[in-house]
Amino acid sequence: MSSSNSGWSSSVTESGANSSGPQCYCGVTTYMKTSYTEHNFGRRFYSCPNYKIKRTCGFFAWVDPPMCDYGKRVLKRMRDMQKRLNFDMNEVQILKEEVEKHKEEVQKHRVHEKKYKEEVEKHRKQVKEYKLLWQ
Ligand SMILES: [Zn+2]
Repeated sequence: MSSSNSGWSSSVTESGANSSGPQCYCGVTTYMKTSYTEHNFGRRFYSCPNYKIKRTCGFFAWVDPPMCDYGKRVLKRMRDMQKRLNFDMNEVQILKEEVEKHKEEVQKHRVHEKKYKEEVEKHRKQVKEYKLLWQ
């Protein structure tokens, strides 16, 4: 038992993804998951895998100790910051698309401008010719 315990704790120090834990009461190997609830954000746990099919045996065990109030506050602030950052990133994405659209518009206008310039050039030549005629 103690050897499997040390196996646990070494996997706990890692990211926790796909780390297998104890067996639940159904006899199924549990896998480490991370809680994303307000009060236990980022806290890892093992729970009965049959939870998904609603036939859970009720097995549940936290991996990490509960976080102190200060830690929760810090984490909440970080989450708020991340949300804002995500929001800003979305804004940036929208603006990028805007810029891309405007680029197309500008490109179109450039084509127009070129045609217009050619038109103007033609007229200038005509005017020159007329002037020559009048001289
Ligand atoms: Zn179970």
